[in-house]
Amino acid sequence: MSTREPAGPFVDPRELDRQYVWHPMTQHSALSQEPLVLMTSAERHVVRDHTGRAYLDAMAGLWCVNAGYGRAEIAEAAYRQMIRLPYYPHTQANAPAAELAARLARLLGGRLRRTYFVSSGSEANEAAFKIARQYHLQRHGGQRRYKIVGRHHSYHGTTLATLAASGMAARTERFEPLPGGFLRVPAPYCYRCPFGLAYPKCGVACAHQVEQAILAEGPETVAAVVLEPVQSAAGVLVPPKEYLPIVAEACRRHGVLLIVDEVITGFGRTGKMFGHHWYGVEPDLVTMAKALTSAYVPMGAVTATEEVFSAFLGEPGSGREAVQISTFGGHPVASAAALANLDILEREDLARNALEVGAYLLEALGRLRAHPAVGDIRGLGLLIGVELVADRESRRPLDPALAVQVARDCFQAGVIVGRSARTYVGGGHTLTIAPPLTWTREEADELVAALERALRRLDR
Ligand code: PLP
Repeated sequence: MSTREPAGPFVDPRELDRQYVWHPMTQHSALSQEPLVLMTSAERHVVRDHTGRAYLDAMAGLWCVNAGYGRAEIAEAAYRQMIRLPYYPHTQANAPAAELAARLARLLGGRLRRTYFVSSGSEANEAAFKIARQYHLQRHGGQRRYKIVGRHHSYHGTTLATLAASGMAARTERFEPLPGGFLRVPAPYCYRCPFGLAYPKCGVACAHQVEQAILAEGPETVAAVVLEPVQSAAGVLVPPKEYLPIVAEACRRHGVLLIVDEVITGFGRTGKMFGHHWYGVEPDLVTMAKALTSAYVPMGAVTATEEVFSAFLGEPGSGREAVQISTFGGHPVASAAALANLDILEREDLARNALEVGAYLLEALGRLRAHPAVGDIRGLGLLIGVELVADRESRRPLDPALAVQVARDCFQAGVIVGRSARTYVGGGHTLTIAPPLTWTREEADELVAALERALRRLDR
């Protein structure tokens, strides 16, 4: 492989970045005080900046580098595919995408068999919404079932429709009006139960809200319910075990499709290959991205049951086919990278490691309860939230600026944790943890020690 010759005199990339790049979720005017860190390399669980300083990554990038960094076999698979066939539109077939679709059908199991490929999680959810709407039109003789039911505090993507399906007012208020036909029900947020109840006496009231919403809207107008098995960005909300089965049953009763968003929870994150596998439900559509390739290259996908797919069959010229396309969908290089990534996840049984190390970490994090700012600690596998409060009794959220300080202290100590930023107006006080699934107990201990130190600094 050749390396690129520098085109001219050396220019510090940080300077080019300062002058030319527009970063997400970043106030550029603050960068002169606190410049962004230039990350230059990574290996296993550790990311390095341009000075060689190491950071233990407890967020796997953005909840996505499940196989860990530095996996040469993913890079080599992508390289070989680039040499053989770098690209061809998916209006024709290519071998890696075909093999990947078959692999996903095996991993998902049950009736989920047919995969439509895209390039991100947002696009996967957009595609799922469009598939759901077109499905009903064709399955129910022209019936316009178009409404999508989502949940408060949820996040399903950055496009207008996925934002409309999400429940984060703080991320949407500037872009309204959003597309119509989206509504939301309360989230299974047990620590702050929207009904002021406590499990199990609550009877999982939040799950029953989904059916209430379907009935209130009129089932003949509702296309789908979209949800994550564990609501991640809100601060890792793990629902009671009955939640998903109750929702799935309501969907089935009213002919509403169930879209399960596995963009974060997929590929071993929660201790099973897919988050919904914990709950014994079979969705109609599953959306994926992030760890499908462990983020080595962008890729997303939506897998449908054969029943959903069959509604798109018809005579040539009938117009029943899926009326959508994206240039990069079914990309052969991304597919080759995904296959190499799935080889690693399966060979090393990283879902099981996530379960074991996740259970160890959750227990070790229990030590943090000694600090009064720690309100709740919850998680499944290596998907964990630590909710910070100003007052344990009233559960008043900690000032988000102080949660930022805790995350920043960890960063300065060389440990990267996340935060539930902008989940709702006034939110942003829950620390999130979602490391590569290759983590060992040593990394878990290192994280807990860093969090303990950062929390202690809150007292000064
Ligand atoms: N769905 C969930 C649950 C997510 O957390 C995200 C992003 O974090 C998305 C969808 C959107 O994925 P992307 O950023 O790849 O568009």
